[in-house]
Amino acid sequence: MRKKITILVVDDTETNIDILLNLLGDDYDLTVALSGESALEIANTESLDLILLDIMMPQMDGYEVCEILKANDKTKDIPVIFITAKTDEDSIEKAYEVGGIDYVTKPFKPRELTARVKTQLNLKFLIEDLEFIASYDQMTGICNRRKFFELAERKFLTDKNNLYAVMIDIDKFKLINDTHGHPIGDAVIIKVTETISQYLESEFIFGRLGGEEFAIVCNCESLDEITQKLERIRKAVDSFELLSDKNESIKCTISMGCSKIKQETKNLDALLKEADVALYEAKGSGRNKIIFRS
Ligand SMILES: [Mg+2]
Repeated sequence: MRKKITILVVDDTETNIDILLNLLGDDYDLTVALSGESALEIANTESLDLILLDIMMPQMDGYEVCEILKANDKTKDIPVIFITAKTDEDSIEKAYEVGGIDYVTKPFKPRELTARVKTQLNLKFLIEDLEFIASYDQMTGICNRRKFFELAERKFLTDKNNLYAVMIDIDKFKLINDTHGHPIGDAVIIKVTETISQYLESEFIFGRLGGEEFAIVCNCESLDEITQKLERIRKAVDSFELLSDKNESIKCTISMGCSKIKQETKNLDALLKEADVALYEAKGSGRNKIIFRS
């Protein structure tokens, strides 16, 4: 179930607001603003699903409000429906140019407005669902490859200080699949994901790059600190046990390669590449271990 849907109604005339409150108040949570300035303040602090926006208001008009909303990352995806007495084509055209998604003229037909609101909300939720599917790994719920790289690239560009990359691979995973079958292989991947997640801080970027391969990008105070964290993860994976349908004990281990950003690290790919080389070294020298390259 979705949380209650919140709509912001912006109009400098209170009677107009009352009409919309009566019409939509039973189905949605309505928040009200009597000016453009206060609308922007609310949009920045509250989580809104839709904005119904008047155009003619003193000081800041609806067009300006919409332009500011659309220029701000936090508010740019909130659909804006203009509700206005202006019926000329220039005004309508401008409403779409500044980022409005629909345009309703006053006096409006109540059922038409309700239907338009519902349509835009459905579209918004559909887009959110698609974005979720496109960003998160279905099996484990963590970032997929695409989302991992998107977030990690952003971190590399904005927060390079003491940046680390970790590549993680489940050891001899093919053997687990071949011996116990794919459902057990999947259960192992999920259990490993949960175990790693428990030891990560919320700002760490953690993704499943594919198959049995994971990666972390994070800032850490020192090599000591990250060593401790990764070692805890390695031990936790090493010590868990899954039971198969036939009550066989299934255990697994992981290998990790870790790299730290240097002056000459050009981009995220270079940082990950270093971690990958370290991972190969871990795999080649006995597995179930962490190799650092700094
Ligand atoms: Mg007005």
